[in-house]
Amino acid sequence: MQKTVRKNTQKTVSFSKDSTNIFFHILTKCNLSCRHCYIDPDQHGSNTLKIETITAWLDRFSDIFTRANIIFLGGEPTLHPDLAEAIKYAKAKNAKSITVDTNGYLFHDFLNAVDPSDVDFLSFSLDGATKETNDAIRGKGSYETCVQGIKAAVSKGFAASLIYTVNSENKDELGLMAPLLSEWGIKRFFIQVIGLRGNSARKKSAQKKSARKNSVCEKSLYEKTGSFSEKNLQLTKDEWRAIVPPAAENIADHGIIVTYPKVFLDIDESFECAGNVADNYFIFPNGRVYRCPVCEDYPIHGLMFSENRIVETPKINETDLFKLEIPEGCVINKIVQPENLAYKKDGTPEYRIACCMLKQEITPRFNE
Ligand code: SF4
Ligand code: SF4
Repeated sequence: MQKTVRKNTQKTVSFSKDSTNIFFHILTKCNLSCRHCYIDPDQHGSNTLKIETITAWLDRFSDIFTRANIIFLGGEPTLHPDLAEAIKYAKAKNAKSITVDTNGYLFHDFLNAVDPSDVDFLSFSLDGATKETNDAIRGKGSYETCVQGIKAAVSKGFAASLIYTVNSENKDELGLMAPLLSEWGIKRFFIQVIGLRGNSARKKSAQKKSARKNSVCEKSLYEKTGSFSEKNLQLTKDEWRAIVPPAAENIADHGIIVTYPKVFLDIDESFECAGNVADNYFIFPNGRVYRCPVCEDYPIHGLMFSENRIVETPKINETDLFKLEIPEGCVINKIVQPENLAYKKDGTPEYRIACCMLKQEITPRFNE
């Protein structure tokens, strides 16, 4: 009998020390130049990690590996010739889950290099329901290639998810995604917010106006358009609340699990910094290890790899900042992106900025 959705379940995904998330950027090189990309070779390196280094760094997490979600990303991770070997290594060590974030180009015959049982999710990125909108953000031809990649992956038995970074140029197409996701066989849909990550790297790149070898990402598009830094792609609080939760609910009605960041907290909602209460590692090929993705644009990483061991960095670093309590919520947001805040006449904040890792999840409920 065909499944019909009766009611969706909403929950805020609270932080947990019982689960570890390892976001492993194994290279920063990429074939695309997406406008919102947070990768900055000055901060993250431009090297491609050798497989011996990848496995040695994974070994540093041996004692917690069975509760670790490993996310391989880049740059474009399938450009790495040894990605399949890295996945198999993590699988053999019994990682709790393995995800590969990809732009869909699936280099090195990726779908034939790994077995669907080796990977929990292939997570594709698309930033529009139409090729016109997506390609204006991610580059010409990227929509068609990504959709072909999704279809090929699903037909081979891979579980596919999709990441959609909402901005002022694609916000109106979020509502068009539901039937497409169903048609393509997407199991999970992640909505991301633009600006709370990578904003500063983008501005810096634009200001420098100098081409970087292998740089990748937003820099080259800026060189082409010359206008990106002047355009504010971020949604306002009212736009976010009007567009994202209803679209998420609609997509969940199609039987797809949807996750999106809370972003804005009412002033009476409780705030927690994941840097204090969760176990997340954002690893870059230059050896930097951050606990907070919003810090990634700056050399304030709390940890780093040195001779294949994780060591703490000297003060002051992100770990010291996590401890500061302010009425606006996320302290790093206030430092690097104060334009996200608004104040009442008496000087108190109108709302708080949530930790960027605080998510709302909608799970479809089926009636057989
Ligand atoms: S955001 Fe775009 S340019 Fe940046 S790494 Fe991902 S696919 Fe490449
Ligand atoms: S985004 Fe803000 S609240 Fe979340 S870990 Fe970073 S500093 Fe803490």
